[in-house]
Amino acid sequence: MAGSETYEVLALRYAVRTARTRQENFLEPVDDHDSPMPLDYYVWVIRNAERTIVVDTGFNHAEGQKRDRPIMREPREALAAVGVDAATVEDVVITHLHYDHAGTLGDFPRARFHVQESEAQFATGRWMLDDDERFAYSADHIAEFVERLFERRVISYSGDGEVAPGVTVHGMPGHTMGLQAVRVPTKRGTVLLASDASHYYEHWVRRVLFSICWSQPDLMKSYETFE
Ligand SMILES: [Zn+2]
Repeated sequence: MAGSETYEVLALRYAVRTARTRQENFLEPVDDHDSPMPLDYYVWVIRNAERTIVVDTGFNHAEGQKRDRPIMREPREALAAVGVDAATVEDVVITHLHYDHAGTLGDFPRARFHVQESEAQFATGRWMLDDDERFAYSADHIAEFVERLFERRVISYSGDGEVAPGVTVHGMPGHTMGLQAVRVPTKRGTVLLASDASHYYEHWVRRVLFSICWSQPDLMKSYETFE
C-alpha cells in the first residue's frame, strides 16, 4: 500500500430530485425530452489515515423547503454516517458557491474553505444582477461565506492549487465563472471529482451543456482538461 499518498473517495448522496425530465438537464433540445432523469445531490469525502477533506457542503432542510427541494438528510448527517464529524473537519473544498454546494458552512466551525478567487468575485459582483445566474445562489449562503472570509478562513486559488499532499484543485469555468474540480490519487488511479463541470457523464461524453451554463466556450475548454 502506498500509504499517505493515496486516499479513498466517498460520494454521499443527501438529496434526490425525482420529478425531473431529461430536458430539464440540458440547455439545448434533446431526444426523449419528457423521459425521467432524476438528479442526485452529493457531498464528497477524501480521506486517508492522516487527513480528511470534505468537498462541498450541500444544503439543509430550511433551504430545501425554501426551494421546494426536500432533502433526505442534512449533509452533516451524511458525513456522520461515515464517521466524519463536521464540527472537527479542518479543510473543505467548495467547488462553487451554488446553493446546493455551499449551503451549510456553519456546520464546519473549524474549517478553512478552499475556493477559486473568480468564484468569490462572481458571487459577490455584478453577475448576481442577472436573474439566470443569481437563481442558483442564495444570498444568506454568500453572506456566510463573506463572514468566513473576514475570519480569514477562506483560501483562494487562481486555477491550479494543492489542498493537501497529492490532492489538487483545478479551475474549470463554464457552469459558473469560478467552478473548480478536485483530483485525488487513489489506489485505483486518479479520481477527478468534476462536480458540476459535468452534471452527468453524458454531458462530458457528448460535449453538451447542462441547463445552467455561464459560458459555453469556457465549459468546452474545461471538458478538454478532464483526461
Ligand atoms: Zn452548480
